[in-house]
Amino acid sequence: MADYIIGIDIGGTTVKIGIIHNHGDILTKWEIPTNTTNAGKSIIDDIWHSLDQRLTEEAIDRSTILGIGVGAPGFIDVDTGFVFEAVNIGWKNVDLTDQLKAKSGLPVFLENDANVAVLGENWKGAGNQAKNVIAITLGTGVGGGIIANGSVVDGENGMAGEIGHMTIDPDGWPCNCGRRGCLETIVSATGIVRQAKQVITGNPTSKLAAFVQEYGEITTKDIFQLAGEGDTLSESIIQHTADILGMFIANMAVTLNPSKVLIGGGVSKAGGQLLKEIIAAFDRYALPRAAAVCDIRVAQLGNDAGMIGSAFLVKQKELNVKF
Ligand SMILES: [Zn+2]
Repeated sequence: MADYIIGIDIGGTTVKIGIIHNHGDILTKWEIPTNTTNAGKSIIDDIWHSLDQRLTEEAIDRSTILGIGVGAPGFIDVDTGFVFEAVNIGWKNVDLTDQLKAKSGLPVFLENDANVAVLGENWKGAGNQAKNVIAITLGTGVGGGIIANGSVVDGENGMAGEIGHMTIDPDGWPCNCGRRGCLETIVSATGIVRQAKQVITGNPTSKLAAFVQEYGEITTKDIFQLAGEGDTLSESIIQHTADILGMFIANMAVTLNPSKVLIGGGVSKAGGQLLKEIIAAFDRYALPRAAAVCDIRVAQLGNDAGMIGSAFLVKQKELNVKF
């Protein structure tokens, strides 16, 4: 049996690489910059050079490696390991899996970055190897990953789990996807700031308005801090955000009936207050039998989730392991 698995998480600014024991502990991990110049042409070479060198340094023989798992952003075909387009890193029509296989001589598997993150969280993080899980990442946008009956859900053409683009308000703010009122226009870090700006327009003499006047800008962190200091308008923004998320999770709960909902990303770090209010809203909206088995938690692994999940992907594909 192989001792190690390679987990790789390709992001817009860095590539995270880890040599992972087959039971999920990290032997060593490091990062290299994502070189997006020249349409990202050198990225796969950069990854392989760095990995090959580290394997030599660690005296790890290729025969002890089960395979390489890769999480990448953008539109991908998980069956062929082909990246159609990844705007952040400049890729268009890149045969990632074939190239990395040819260089390494190892089996290589590719998944969407949000999907490997939920695999990682469920393997070694807050999911605790549940069979039915929804992961929600609240960052600049809103990402998602779904595990149903023990496997990650890709859907017919890779769009499953794109929860940030579920329509919440048909007359809402315009979204990057070209439509209006998507979940991420309201509850992402960007969305929460947008809510604050709207509240300020209607309340020009408020503490929030004074804050923006003084500092020129406001962040999600500032809004959470003001709410913590008792500012009622800031509290109302957090309540609205939690209410939308609680309703959204309640709707997902009658679709997938998860036992775990894992909330990660920058916004989730802003405070336990948000989690508490999401859970309260969820309990108001959810069907009691679906709510009874559903535990909403903050994700644990942070930036390592994708890399660890990419390693689990290899286990899943090579050894047919399920949660
Ligand atoms: Zn959208």
